[in-house]
Amino acid sequence: MVSGNGAAVARSPAGTGAGPTAAVAGHVEPAARGIVPTVVIVGAGFGGLRAARALARAPVRVVLLDRHNYHLFQPLLYQVATAGLEPEGIAKPVRAILRGQRNLEFRMAEVTGVDLAARAVRTDVGDVPYDHLVLAMGGETDFRGIESVARNGFGLKDVEEAVAIRNHVLRCFEEATLEADAARRRALLTFVVVGGGPTGVEMAGAFSELVRLVLVKDYPRLNLADVGILLLEASDRLLVAMPPRLSGAAAETLRAKHVEVRFGAAVEAYDGTCARLAGGEVIPARTLVWAAGAKAAALTAALGLRTARQGRIMVEPTLQVPGHPEVYVVGDAAWLEHARAPLPMMAPVAIQMAETAARNIRRRLAGRAPEALRYRDPGSLATIGRSAAVAYIHGLSFTGFPAWVVWLVVHLVQLIGFRNKLLVLLNWAWDYFFYDRAVRLITKR
Ligand SMILES: Cc1cc2nc3c(=O)[nH]c(=O)nc-3n(C[C@H](O)[C@H](O)[C@H](O)COP(=O)(O)OP(=O)(O)OC[C@H]3O[C@@H](n4cnc5c(N)ncnc54)[C@H](O)[C@@H]3O)c2cc1C
Repeated sequence: MVSGNGAAVARSPAGTGAGPTAAVAGHVEPAARGIVPTVVIVGAGFGGLRAARALARAPVRVVLLDRHNYHLFQPLLYQVATAGLEPEGIAKPVRAILRGQRNLEFRMAEVTGVDLAARAVRTDVGDVPYDHLVLAMGGETDFRGIESVARNGFGLKDVEEAVAIRNHVLRCFEEATLEADAARRRALLTFVVVGGGPTGVEMAGAFSELVRLVLVKDYPRLNLADVGILLLEASDRLLVAMPPRLSGAAAETLRAKHVEVRFGAAVEAYDGTCARLAGGEVIPARTLVWAAGAKAAALTAALGLRTARQGRIMVEPTLQVPGHPEVYVVGDAAWLEHARAPLPMMAPVAIQMAETAARNIRRRLAGRAPEALRYRDPGSLATIGRSAAVAYIHGLSFTGFPAWVVWLVVHLVQLIGFRNKLLVLLNWAWDYFFYDRAVRLITKR
């Protein structure tokens, strides 16, 4: 087999189609040698998937690598955690998504490093040589060094964590019904969400509705006075990326839904039964969901590339890594400043970066200079449960039902696959009309 970078490689026993013989000294562009170049993409999230699709008609061979065999729509993870959606509704196998793309090969693999000199990606199933590399490995929860929270609290980044939260919360209700001690019962029914960004706001709103609209029917002996849902924010407002008017509206809506919103509340420790705040206050709670930070995926630290805050790799406006024009970083793993602020870790950023990186690969193949990213901010949205949301789009801010409808449409349109869209729409309609959450299953003890 001849790889794009011109090195004959032996098929490894694991069938990776790549061997370690790809060392390139005095690299000559493979296209110039009449060989189809290989583009390796790490990560099949928003960025990686878009880059792969954007290269569908390019004269390249694309190898897409991900540790999971599915693409995950993370913005709806909180609905899996609060029993609103099944994981299958927000995830789809990568092979099914890219089935028709003839220049693409998907490999399920854990990427452990990159040999930049040899131009090879190291994985747990062998090395994969590349001519162009797109790193789109996303981010992970940043517990900000608070060990006890990382150990005893929940992050919300993947399917396993979302299902673990669902199982845990439902189990707390089962245990609470059997608990005679009032203080212990209240701790079982106290749910702390840390971080007043979009994920924290959406999570707290969804918790409140799960309890007050649904679980109250399952547990008729439940005393709602025992239930506490707290949203703790260290700064003085929610949704800092939005205008203050929307931050205020979000806090007001949450309070109307019986969420206790507290500002200047920084969690310092959590032992699984009590959260301790800076200042010494202790909140007994058996559930703590940490939505107060994200950083680049662990892999970024293993690459020896220059990183900025949150461990994100610094890139040129063309998305290329300084000194390595054949390497692009997109999405949450990339650090690029735009209008004097870093681009946020959000799906539209990842998608637009991926489009630019793919375009620049095509331009380089055609002997043209790469172009800088021209970022168009599509705005931001956060929902706060039934008929309530806040939206800030192209300088316009609006709240309530209109914002909620926009939120519904945007998320439905962005979900991948007709079946997923239909599943999610059906679930939403059912929950809306019947005040239900269909997925109230405890699948693990
Ligand atoms: C709970 C939650 C809610 C969110 N809500 C919103 C929202 O409402 N709106 C919005 O715009 N954004 C939202 N985001 C952020 C958005 O999901 C991310 O910005 C976006 O997913 C980034 O895309 P990406 O391609 O960089 O990374 P990802 O989509 O995270 O994809 C990275 C991929 O790389 C793979 N990977 C990572 N490391 C390795 C490795 N070592 N080996 C192999 N594969 C690896 C992962 O499995 C994953 O498939 C939310 C995120 C979370 C967690």
